[in-house]
Amino acid sequence: MNKRIRPTPQLLLVAVLLALCIVLPFALLACDTQPPEDTDPSDSSFDTPEESTSDVFSESYTDTEPEDTQDSETESEPTETEPVETEPVETEPVPDNIIHGFEVDLEMEKALGFDFEIRDEQMMAHGNVWLRTEPSTQKGDASKVEILYSKTEIRRIGYSEKWSRVVYKGRVCYVSSSYLVEYAPQNDKTDIYYEGKGKNKDIVIVIDAGHQLFAMNDTEPNGPGSDEMKVKVTSGTVGVATGIWEYQLNLDVALLLRDLLLDEGYSVVMIRETNNVTISNVERAEIANRYRAAAFVRIHANSSANANTKGALTICQTPNNPYNADIYKECRGLSKNVIDEFCRATGFENDGVWENDTMTGINWCRVPTTIVEMGYMSNASEDKAMATEEFRNNAAKGIFAGVVKYVQANHVFG
Ligand SMILES: [Zn+2]
Repeated sequence: MNKRIRPTPQLLLVAVLLALCIVLPFALLACDTQPPEDTDPSDSSFDTPEESTSDVFSESYTDTEPEDTQDSETESEPTETEPVETEPVETEPVPDNIIHGFEVDLEMEKALGFDFEIRDEQMMAHGNVWLRTEPSTQKGDASKVEILYSKTEIRRIGYSEKWSRVVYKGRVCYVSSSYLVEYAPQNDKTDIYYEGKGKNKDIVIVIDAGHQLFAMNDTEPNGPGSDEMKVKVTSGTVGVATGIWEYQLNLDVALLLRDLLLDEGYSVVMIRETNNVTISNVERAEIANRYRAAAFVRIHANSSANANTKGALTICQTPNNPYNADIYKECRGLSKNVIDEFCRATGFENDGVWENDTMTGINWCRVPTTIVEMGYMSNASEDKAMATEEFRNNAAKGIFAGVVKYVQANHVFG
């Protein structure tokens, strides 16, 4: 017991000395810095030079502490050595317009009708979109900052349904909220096979819901052996009135079509059943070829610079297509059946079959193929119509009827 008690006083002494060594300098420093907080008039001689240095700081550090300068000048910084180190932060609340350290023009936002929810999250762009100086397109080119390219990551510090407040290269900008998604790796399943039953089991229908969440901006040949390269896949268009993405609309209709075909015993292959996939137009065509599809139906919606353009159409190759003119008749037949039945079911204007040799996904096909352009998402009334459940059911029924009509007349049963 003795042994344990004896060292205590010595240890205590050492400890006290040590503590003094550590604490004393700080205490002295504190004495130096604190009194000037209640600055008396005699100190005012210091204010003038301090003011000018503070101004220099405030200019170069506007991003971090713009509002602090006026008050902190009088309060702190008696020492010339470390003027920035003293803590104005503790004594003053962060001004409302500093969000996560970034200065935000709240008055401008308010004037445009926005009261953003404060966020701090990493987002990603899908589709290329303009970053703007304000949450509005009313100034046109004057508010454009830079293009935010598809798949670019970006920090969001404010959210509203229409616009997001983001930080890009250290600058506060605004971007349409519909172009931002949470980042997720693109590894969802593609090429999903459903076996049919009964007499239609041998007929395989391949359904391609056009586009996907993220564009694939690298290129692939426009046709087998072609030197002409085209972007692998885009994220498609977006509804001018609804903000719905084409890839989502296409998928919704594709899933309904799948169910109608399965109900009738057809075998079905879905190119995709989610949006977060990575599959190029060539790869899509090759899936249809591999399954020897009786019909390859590619579901899309259209877009035009002219907001009045409307109507539905289907697309196939021309009779002179350099890659697959030999199946022109089949593709044309399928396209004709599908557009007629689609328009009958939906009431959309029938713009007929368009022939075009620039479509990678058609040029690579060795099976009867059609692209259905259901309507124009750039046309407000068609966009709104296509957003309804009624339209989607009718669209699926119409495409189904056209496909069935074609395959029943043309498929060679063996
Ligand atoms: Zn499309």
